[in-house]
Amino acid sequence: MKTIDFLLKNILAPLIVAFLTPFVISLYSQITTDNWKYLLEQVSFTQMYLFLAVIIFWEMGIILKNRYDTVKRENLKAGALTRHFPIDGYETIFQIQYNGVLWDIRVPKGIDSFLVSSKTVDRIDVKLPPKCPLCKTELEQTRSFIKGYKWKCVSCGFTKRNNDIWHKEAERAKKIAKRKLEFHIDENK
Ligand SMILES: [Zn+2]
Repeated sequence: MKTIDFLLKNILAPLIVAFLTPFVISLYSQITTDNWKYLLEQVSFTQMYLFLAVIIFWEMGIILKNRYDTVKRENLKAGALTRHFPIDGYETIFQIQYNGVLWDIRVPKGIDSFLVSSKTVDRIDVKLPPKCPLCKTELEQTRSFIKGYKWKCVSCGFTKRNNDIWHKEAERAKKIAKRKLEFHIDENK
């Protein structure tokens, strides 16, 4: 397993093998037949194509393995991202729909949500995970093998593909929520 892992890690390995093989064959040819070219001339087209095919499959194997490892690592990490929490927790003050899903907008407990001020605006936070737009269940996120992320509702089966991780979308939702709150404050002045 270790050898296979090693062979599947280094993207240069197949290229080195591809370049070195003719040299090794001609060196061996020189030693055994006293003629550099003799053994190379014995190689048929079929054998050459087979050799090329092996190199190409090897490269593809490396690319797929690397991708698989990245996806696995990111899926593990996604569950373990730490965030800073206020001592008393948060209180949701409103909800917005952004990027096709629902985001809870909250402030640390103790801030009087009825007396929204510019101070409140700076302290708002977006709760993760976002919620399903159909049934309001918290969504699950997994890394897609090809590109981006998949968000899934375990309750109703709603799914959505998204290019960016939801932590990034939460930052965008926060900008929108901030603006909504600022607007609300201005209106009530
Ligand atoms: Zn749902």
